[in-house]
Amino acid sequence: MAREYSPYALNIYIGCSHRCKYCYAPHTLQRTEDSYFGKPQPRKDILKLLEKDLQKNTYKEQVLISFVGDVYCDNADNSETTREVLKLLNAYNVPVAVLSKGGSKMLRDLDVFKSFGNRITVGTTLTFLDENKSKEWEPYASLPEDRLYTLKTLHENGIKTFASFEPTIEPDESIKLIERTLKDNSVEHYKIGKINNYKKADKWQNWEEYLQNCIDLLRPANKQVYYKFCLRKLAPNVELFANEKNPDLYNVRILENEQLKFL
Ligand code: SF4
Repeated sequence: MAREYSPYALNIYIGCSHRCKYCYAPHTLQRTEDSYFGKPQPRKDILKLLEKDLQKNTYKEQVLISFVGDVYCDNADNSETTREVLKLLNAYNVPVAVLSKGGSKMLRDLDVFKSFGNRITVGTTLTFLDENKSKEWEPYASLPEDRLYTLKTLHENGIKTFASFEPTIEPDESIKLIERTLKDNSVEHYKIGKINNYKKADKWQNWEEYLQNCIDLLRPANKQVYYKFCLRKLAPNVELFANEKNPDLYNVRILENEQLKFL
């Protein structure tokens, strides 16, 4: 569910080159796979339209980039528009979350991420630690080690990081990834869900056991965690704290007194 990710979302490219097997976007947008999984162009006039909108509206709650597509996939302008959009959002003091499977390609914009201070969080989806499985499910996205390296580098550069475990396809793989990020100390915030709406791919896993295993790893590590509704629903006997069920608690946002500084 989009709302669980962020109060607002901004889509820069409508299309994606990563070709994940489970991608919902062509169906949601009623586009053919061939027209969606190409080398996307940025949306027409997006910078002009965005600036007009920012002149009229103030965003104090987190804007996710992006819900559709991936702003660091192999797109037509080598993600130049992503960089310009980020600069514009920063100029208007907007809190931003960036989510991508583009791996170290994201690091080219490290200077822009840094310029946001504590108004940005940057994350990646972690699906498989096994490279072959990753290639099978997310054939043109960055490889697991590259995503893990990117998270570590972002964290070492003072950027708040998050990892999305949606989809979880093989719980054992996700657990290994959580262990690895804990060892690397590279992730501040975890969003954990499961695979949905893909060829009954969620029927063989023991979701209660998975949720409990995540809790056993992440609570002692004192991490910020949100467990998505789709996972909680299939693990009704696992008790969670209120903070673990609150989708907005760990978002970046503008605090009232912080906003006043910019008026
Ligand atoms: S990265 Fe997202 S938008 Fe791109 S193919 Fe994968 S699931 Fe679809």
